[in-house]
Amino acid sequence: MNDEFTIDGFGSLAVHGGHVKDPNSAHLVPIYASSTYVFDTAEQGMRRFSGQEEGYIYSRWGNPTMHEAEEKISALETFGLPVQVKGILHASGMAAISSLLLATLKSGDKILSHFSLYGGTEEILHKVLPPLGIEPVVVDLRDLNKAEEAIKADRSLRMLYIETPANPTIQCVDIEALTKLAKQYGLLVACDNTFATPYLQQPFKYGVDFIVHSTTKFLNGHGTAIGGILLGRDVEFMNTKATKTHRLLGGNANPFDAFLLITGIKTLELRMDRHCNNAVEVAKFLEGNSAVARVNYNGLTSHPDHAVAMKQMRHPGGMLSFELKEGLQGGINFMNKLKMCIRTVSLGTCDTLLSHPASMTHYSVPKEQREKYGITDGLIRMNVGIENIQDILRDLEQAL
Ligand code: PLP
Repeated sequence: MNDEFTIDGFGSLAVHGGHVKDPNSAHLVPIYASSTYVFDTAEQGMRRFSGQEEGYIYSRWGNPTMHEAEEKISALETFGLPVQVKGILHASGMAAISSLLLATLKSGDKILSHFSLYGGTEEILHKVLPPLGIEPVVVDLRDLNKAEEAIKADRSLRMLYIETPANPTIQCVDIEALTKLAKQYGLLVACDNTFATPYLQQPFKYGVDFIVHSTTKFLNGHGTAIGGILLGRDVEFMNTKATKTHRLLGGNANPFDAFLLITGIKTLELRMDRHCNNAVEVAKFLEGNSAVARVNYNGLTSHPDHAVAMKQMRHPGGMLSFELKEGLQGGINFMNKLKMCIRTVSLGTCDTLLSHPASMTHYSVPKEQREKYGITDGLIRMNVGIENIQDILRDLEQAL
């Protein structure tokens, strides 16, 4: 792209953002399958290591293909905002979250979060951090009074960690109100933006300090690679402590997966529009089906988080869940009857994916415990794909 041209649209930025002209005129960024980079002289090596000269050294530290993905996602998360950020691509969403937590928290600190979070993140907070002297505080963050009480009561809180919409319940919390509150008490704020993507929601607009993504999901969009990214608005911190932590923990991405991610992001806007439009149709269809007890979709006015979702999201998203009246066996029967839609646990792909937490991801979690979080026997989680809506509805109808 010519430097004199300014891009105005999100979709154009998703296609062109982050791209640097290739020295060999390749249209697309090549997959730089090289673990290390050559110095012309010992002096040049010295300048690179001391930071006097920019340039690649070793692919755990950075690589041109990975860099393009970092720049593209940073551009999208700050689209239209007067904010500078730095992104660091990671091997997975969990690697990005680990770098964030280990770079920012120390023994004696506490971290405040909502009760509905991706299971892996919850385990990090409850199993990995406490032996390091970092304790989680869990509150229903949809209630701002409870959030304020928790923050006021404990001066050891250092970070507010939110995920909205949250996995697996699709609950939403108010990013703007919570960030304002957290900032009054000097807390750092991190937001997992995986379910929304920067097309639907831009947490930096509300002053959050960090964004994390599992790029495995809607950003990649095709289910072809595991990945994650950590973005931060304190560029100095990102260039020093966060970079150091990422390099030393070794959760680096790889050029092939970065290439797949870049290719996937180019169609983000088109895909998200279709995911969201299809999700609205599926939610309406399920609401009217006699086998279904309840539909959890932020786009329905009946959903308790509808107002918050609409305040901060362009569309309510492509994820929903619903509860079958016939419980565990009803869930198993339904899953077995699906003909086109896929039985699997991930999300964010073009294909419609369904999972039954009670017989799959949460099989070993005691019933009383999972039900506290709304994961009932008959709950089905659905990533509404981009197929033709009539085919999705026909498959659901025959399975129900
Ligand atoms: N955050 C959210 C909201 C997720 O749904 C997931 C995985 O499902 C992760 C983080 C972890 O990402 P990954 O599987 O890429 O490590």
